[in-house]
Amino acid sequence: MRPERLNPLFAETDGLKGVGPGLRRPLDRLGLTRVRDILYHLPDRFVHRRVVTSLDDAGVGEQVIVALTPRDYRSGGSPRAPFRVLAEDAMGNVCALTYFGRNAGWARKQLPLGETRWIAGRLDQFGQTLQIVHPDHVADQGAAALGTVCEPVYGVAEGLTQARMAALAGQALALVPDLPEWIEPGLLARKGWPNWREALHSAHRSEDKAARDRLAYDELLANSLALMLVRDSNRTRVGTPLQGDGRLRGKLVLPFGLTGAQRRSIAEIEGDMAQTAPMLRLLQGDVGAGKTVVALEAMLIAVEAGAQAALLAPTEILARQHYATLSRMASSTGVNIALLTGRDKGRAREAILMGLLDGSIDICVGTHAIFQDSVAYRHLALVVIDEQHRFGVGQRLMLTQKGKRTPHCLAMTATPIPRTLTLAQYGEMDVSRLDEMPPGRQPIDTRVVAAERIGDVVGALERHFASGQQAYWVCPMVRENESEDLAAAEARFAALQDRFKDDVVLVHGQLRPEQKDAAMERFAGGRAKLLVATTVIEVGVDVPNATLMVIEQAERFGLAQLHQLRGRVGRGSEKSTCLLLRGEALSETARERLALMRETQDGFRLAEEDLRLRGGGELLGTRQSGEAAFTIATLEQITELLPIAHDDARLLIERDGGLTAPRGEAARLLLYLFERDYGVQLLRGG
Ligand code: ADP
Ligand code: MG
Repeated sequence: MRPERLNPLFAETDGLKGVGPGLRRPLDRLGLTRVRDILYHLPDRFVHRRVVTSLDDAGVGEQVIVALTPRDYRSGGSPRAPFRVLAEDAMGNVCALTYFGRNAGWARKQLPLGETRWIAGRLDQFGQTLQIVHPDHVADQGAAALGTVCEPVYGVAEGLTQARMAALAGQALALVPDLPEWIEPGLLARKGWPNWREALHSAHRSEDKAARDRLAYDELLANSLALMLVRDSNRTRVGTPLQGDGRLRGKLVLPFGLTGAQRRSIAEIEGDMAQTAPMLRLLQGDVGAGKTVVALEAMLIAVEAGAQAALLAPTEILARQHYATLSRMASSTGVNIALLTGRDKGRAREAILMGLLDGSIDICVGTHAIFQDSVAYRHLALVVIDEQHRFGVGQRLMLTQKGKRTPHCLAMTATPIPRTLTLAQYGEMDVSRLDEMPPGRQPIDTRVVAAERIGDVVGALERHFASGQQAYWVCPMVRENESEDLAAAEARFAALQDRFKDDVVLVHGQLRPEQKDAAMERFAGGRAKLLVATTVIEVGVDVPNATLMVIEQAERFGLAQLHQLRGRVGRGSEKSTCLLLRGEALSETARERLALMRETQDGFRLAEEDLRLRGGGELLGTRQSGEAAFTIATLEQITELLPIAHDDARLLIERDGGLTAPRGEAARLLLYLFERDYGVQLLRGG
């Protein structure tokens, strides 16, 4: 159970002053459901604002505070178009205050016509006019009331203002207890880091590198510790040594020969599975590298040895696709494969549960439903996890640690991460790499196109559809900017729908699973020609006929992510194209990054170059919604601090394996704080 002193931090946000159902919604959407989440929702940056009397004194892109008088409202043509308030400064310069989403009513109330208001925000240019998109503050008093010179900027969502967010952070900080130190004292002194409580306060108040580093280190240490505890506990566990006799694998009829990398990986897996210690192996390989057949061979080994295997997919539709692919590939072997998802109910579900229990089902494919308590296996000895998310591996692994005998575990990932970071993400797992693509793949013709030329791109789409092919259109969706990104994606969808009618479907993270599945199915079944999507996972299904991908605002994506997305169209032997739409004013770095996409199709190289090019300050890729990586540590911090955290965690566990000495006790608090408490549970159970 969680230590009592942490309880105030894990209380729901409802307990904070001013949080009712209205505020709860945007907070929930940001994933801020508990006080702890608000504490760790650190400012993205701080603005240093300048008060100007006239817009003439301000530069485009500058953060300003200026007095403006609203003169007119513009609603725009479609319901999805932004709402604009045209306002004037004292000199008569006009500036549009622009609101996306459903903010019009709110904007009218805040900005009555004819009444002067002090506005704080970033001055931008939109065509010929100046504009401020979603002003950070609107106040009717003087400039002084608009806050400090240095002001935190938080990630917010529709219905949640910066001022509100700052006030909530203040309330949350007041609840922070003093906790014993879990960082090794020598390191703390060497780095000059503040204690935990001070670090939190400071990180919300100003750009304090020491405070941010300390909090990032906490996160990395928690992660290292938890993965090590999983790994160590796994070592002491007993699995079933599985020795296949080859009788099923011998019956496999594949339309291709395996690559050297596939054969090597299968041999490594086979070696692991023959041991009593449960396998804990990661299969890493680009999209299209051929992981599925490796997984199938592993599962057939388990079945040959008289046991069962399960494959866990991240979404329902991917589970169904895996089921179809595996059933087709394995049809000549006679193994019995079943599909189990949360949607199966009643008789059908009963029949599958029965088959798993009596052992007549050899291989079960499904979503997390396959690990519910009500699902019992006769002899589950191998679990394959098709891990599309970057993280959460530890948690997934925990699923497999139930039961007397621990199943062997194979996790599959397509995320090309720099070698230096493999440790951070996957702890001490053994790794097999599919570093060789199946023969006959053509490189994906990748081009960088200026956003102004979007008309040409739409024309190209039209010709593409006319030739009977399908396409993806990917829009960025970053957690920190979610409501604007979502509005932009919806607007893009609406515009494409105007042109292509029913041939277009939209999928994003805010849709209900049924809606998502329905859209995906329309696309996968060829009934829709264009899929507009926002994240990597939404384009995860194989659609061989989709040979063109357009990625909007490509400069905002991490290269590893772009590469993963692009891999979706290079599935077959036919020629495919990826168009990277870029914004107008690109920095030198962004230019260089996009140029690399044209140059190479090597995911690992892209990931490493991206790390080198973007260096400090940037997050691990774009933190796409729903794919939360580390929430605090930046790429730079991970690179610098992770090796230290890793060694420190190792030492701590070697000296105090049960985490019972004072520092060990403190480290337990840390694990709870970062919700890596599955590590603690292993200690107790172990
Ligand atoms: P991944 O899951 O790694 O993205 P898949 O397993 O879906 O990739 O394989 C991509 C495609 O390549 C599939 O159509 C698969 O049948 C094919 N494939 C896999 N291995 C080979 C191979 N050795 N030679 C030719 N084609 C292959
Ligand atoms: Mg796959």
